[in-house]
Order: sequence, then structure tokens, then C-alpha cells
Amino acid sequence: MKKLLFVIIIFLVSNTVYALDLRGKFYQGNLIVGKTEPKSKVFIDKKKIKVSDQGFFAFGLSKDRKNNVSIEAVRNGVSEKVTKKVYKKKYQIQKIDGLPQKQVTPPKEVYERIKNDNKLIAKARAIDSDLVFFSNEFKIPIENTIITGVYGSQRILNGIPKSPHYGLDFAAKERTEIKAMLDGVVTLSEKDLYYTGGTVIFDHGHGVSTLYMHMKDIYVKKGQKIKQGYIIGTVGKTGRATGAHLDIRLNWFDVKLDPASVLIIY
Ligand SMILES: [Zn+2]
Repeated sequence: MKKLLFVIIIFLVSNTVYALDLRGKFYQGNLIVGKTEPKSKVFIDKKKIKVSDQGFFAFGLSKDRKNNVSIEAVRNGVSEKVTKKVYKKKYQIQKIDGLPQKQVTPPKEVYERIKNDNKLIAKARAIDSDLVFFSNEFKIPIENTIITGVYGSQRILNGIPKSPHYGLDFAAKERTEIKAMLDGVVTLSEKDLYYTGGTVIFDHGHGVSTLYMHMKDIYVKKGQKIKQGYIIGTVGKTGRATGAHLDIRLNWFDVKLDPASVLIIY
């Protein structure tokens, strides 16, 4: 009888092993969206992350991530663990010569301004809200466009190696309408930041945010909830832009991710 009970318990336990669905490819710089049973706890590399009421969660893989990533979901004391290999992405080297020196190294008098801008951006990206918009599909922000700059490119300006380009650049004329890629809440709307010019940041929940830069017109205000496809402003060349274009960013908190990983553009 005891033995039978034991067998039944094992059967029940093995039947409570639940699904851990992961969406997104495990490449450097990618956003991964997962779904598990509601009321589960999820740990990424042993660090607990937020899980929505429906069981959605999100995390990002940094640009140069080399180690495997461990994902663990725990519910009612039952743990499901998955280890994923992170595949390397090949990054381009982008050399630009003949730039005015002030575009390569900013003048000292703007250091304080840059520091302030960075603080504003960092604050917006640190928000860990309960929104679950990140679980929906992103859409391209501009129609009939081409990609002119990709994520991870190492920039060498006038022979000086700079930090990599973390954005995705779209060629577009000034005043081209920009559409929100996903439902979100505006967490930053600034007309004139030093590097990024007219800048808007959206929170999509659980640390997932997007940023649009160099905008000419901005039609959204901080705190507004915006629907996917809504016209948020227009393309410009504000901030340190060499010409009119749209540069977008994708983050998981302060981890800079590849916007192309969520857009179907190729
Ligand atoms: Zn760019």
C-alpha cells in the first residue's frame, strides 16, 4: 500500500511539471520573453525577476555575453530549470573620418549637461513596472525605409575607437512620421538632450523600454499611455546627428539590447 501511494505521488509530481515557454533566439543582444504558470517565481542567473499575473516575464542578453544563461521557474516547491547557450553575434566595424573634433570629443562646458541627460535616461530605464506590453509583437516605426546602422557596430571616429553603436538607424527625411512600435507609457519626453536631441522613452513593463532619438517634433508627454501605431512625432536631426534619421534603442533595464531582435525587418 505504501509503495502504491509512493508511485501515485511520483506520478502526480511528474504531472505537475509545467511548461516554461521561451520566445526569442538566444543570441547576444536579444530580448527573451518567457511564459510560465501564473504565480511562479522566475530566476535568471539565480536573480529573481518579475512574473506577471498571466505568467509572462522578460530578460535581455548583453552585447558581449559569453556564459550560458540559466532560467529557473519555481511553483509550489517544484522547480524547472533550463540552461541555454548564448550564440555570438558578429558586429561590424564602422570608420568615420573627417568629423569636426567637437563631434568626436564633446567640449568640457557640456560635460555637466551630458551627465544630467544620462541621469534622466538611466532613471527612465530603471523603472520596473507591472505592465506586460512587452509580451506583444513590436512593429516597425517608419514605413518604406532602409536600415543604415545596426546594433553593436564598433565606431572609430577620426581614428579614435568609441563606444559601440547600440541603436538601429532608419533612413528617413525630416518630418517623416514615427509610429510607436508597441503599446507603452511615456517615461521621458525631452526636446533637447545633448547627444540624442528630441528624445522619447517608453516603458513596456518589467524593465523593457524603447527610446527614439534625434526627433524634430514630439507629440507625446511623460505619463501618457500610447497605443502601438500612434504617431509619436517626426524624424529630425536634433542632438549630435550627422543628418536626418531615426535611431531607436531597446533596453532591459540598463542592458542595451538589439532592437532588430524584436522587429521583423529582414
Ligand atoms: Zn544611430
